[in-house]
Amino acid sequence: MTIKIVLKRLPDDEISNKINVKEGGQISCVDSEIVFVEIPVRCKFCNTENALKAESFEVVESHEREMGAEFCHSSHADGECVKCKKHMELKIDLWEYPVGALLFEKDFIEEIENCEYIEDSK
Ligand SMILES: [Zn+2]
Repeated sequence: MTIKIVLKRLPDDEISNKINVKEGGQISCVDSEIVFVEIPVRCKFCNTENALKAESFEVVESHEREMGAEFCHSSHADGECVKCKKHMELKIDLWEYPVGALLFEKDFIEEIENCEYIEDSK
């Protein structure tokens, strides 16, 4: 399944884009900031589908590469299962490289507690 990335345009702070991104997909984030990302997960306890929301992304790593800087934007998402109310948590990294291009891969999601990312069906 796709994750949904919501970006806001700087400096006017208006939400400019809500984009569904597939595994391996790349989107433009030029002059934008990540507002939140929604990730489809299944509760491991009761198997119900949920969407976890990750906010407050921070740059946790950067490297210089041949096409310039590369940044890792990282955040945690957590919440209660809509059905059984058990706590769920995951970590998500989005890599920006080259600058202005945001990449999503399924490996960028780390399941921390009671949830399983719902992958694209092949
Ligand atoms: Zn549940």
